[in-house]
Amino acid sequence: PVVTRFAPSPTGFLHIGGARTALFNWLYARRFGGKMLLRIEDTDRERSTEAAIRAIIDGLSWLGLSWDGEVVYQFARAARHREVAESMLASGRAYRCFATQAELEEMRETARREGRPLRYDGRWRDRDPASAPADAKPVIRLRAPIEGETVVEDHVQGRVVWQNKDLDDLVLLRSDGTPTYMLAVVVDDHDMGVTHVIRGDDHLTNAARQTQIYQAMGWAVPQWAHIPLIHGPDGAKLSKRHGALGIDAYRDLGFLPVALRNYLVRLGWSHGNQEIFSDEEMVAAFDLGQIGRSPARFDFAKLENLNGHYMRQASNAELVQRLEDLLPSLGPARGLPPRFAPEVRAKLEAAMDGLKERAKTLVELLDAAYYLYAAAPLTLDAKASALLDDAARARLAALRPRLAAAAEWSQARLEEVVRAFAEETGCKLGQVAQPLRAALTGRSTSPGLFDVMAVLGREECLARLDAQST
Ligand code: GLU
Repeated sequence: PVVTRFAPSPTGFLHIGGARTALFNWLYARRFGGKMLLRIEDTDRERSTEAAIRAIIDGLSWLGLSWDGEVVYQFARAARHREVAESMLASGRAYRCFATQAELEEMRETARREGRPLRYDGRWRDRDPASAPADAKPVIRLRAPIEGETVVEDHVQGRVVWQNKDLDDLVLLRSDGTPTYMLAVVVDDHDMGVTHVIRGDDHLTNAARQTQIYQAMGWAVPQWAHIPLIHGPDGAKLSKRHGALGIDAYRDLGFLPVALRNYLVRLGWSHGNQEIFSDEEMVAAFDLGQIGRSPARFDFAKLENLNGHYMRQASNAELVQRLEDLLPSLGPARGLPPRFAPEVRAKLEAAMDGLKERAKTLVELLDAAYYLYAAAPLTLDAKASALLDDAARARLAALRPRLAAAAEWSQARLEEVVRAFAEETGCKLGQVAQPLRAALTGRSTSPGLFDVMAVLGREECLARLDAQST
């Protein structure tokens, strides 16, 4: 059975690249009826934080990606990592290295002079540990093969070959007894039964080194898929400006998880020309062979379009709930409480069909709905103020008694009243309707005017007109 894993280091928020890696692992596991595990790689004690762990877990949950079983914390497994290093020592697959800092520095200096990467020269490979200085603290190094090659068969990168003479004897256990990243990952993936490692291609060389550890232990090497990183629209490495933000930022920008999932799946993976995928379709179609080899480019406009699509598909009740979920972060700047009052909720739901046609994000939706939750007097934006000149205000004052007297407060009836008023006073409909919209919504655009009026109700409409008539 397929077992994948997502193995983030909790040294920062869950960023967009990490989220895509998680999605690919999740999809692959679902596709083959397997499991996706979550391992928090918290071995860097200085830089790992509780807040980052929370952000990863909350981000995955918000995105709708679930993992199987308990979260595995790598640091808690240090004793097991040590045990494996000791067993390699016992079998001769690893050795103690007593090279001092000064010696390593000298090797580094030589490498620099010769313009090549640092390679440990293996000086303790065959030396008797008894000859080490008494106070020296050794590291444990892998006795890596010197001849031949190490091959990584990668689902995305193809067959990648390293000459073993270029790979030095890597450190497995530091002199303070803590495992290195390279050892911890291999031991954990082995113990967790991971069959497929799907991760960023910045780990490709690590795969060669990790392969050597698997081989030294006589363990089955997992299948690899190293996916190209995400770049900005200009092809350069993704920066904040381009969208290298935490997943929480995407939530606060007003994207729906379903839209982000759909956007992310197409970031580096393709299935013919299809752009829109339900979760079921993604799961049914996803495979590692269709992941491209060149970096995917992040495109905000495309994400917004997808989001608009999914907002129009979403039920009105869901959208209201999503808006409410955003209130703690977006409400204060808009003078909104952390929850909608029940009557605002009801109005939002009633107006949602018209609102969601225009908005691409939940933030736009919230702003477009301003007229529903605002109380008279409204704050007019610049265009709305411009529409309400003296002549327009006078027209609205003349219209007011007819609205107050309308037999029925329905869309159809209101339209009749306003049209009749325009005709009788010799105005174009727009000369009445535009200032009316400005006075009722504070904006120059809104869903259909009569729809807006019907949702607001007679009393509120008249109060808003009164607030503008002075
Ligand atoms: N913890 C590593 C990272 O966040 C990933 C390790 C792996 O997937 O093997 O980059």
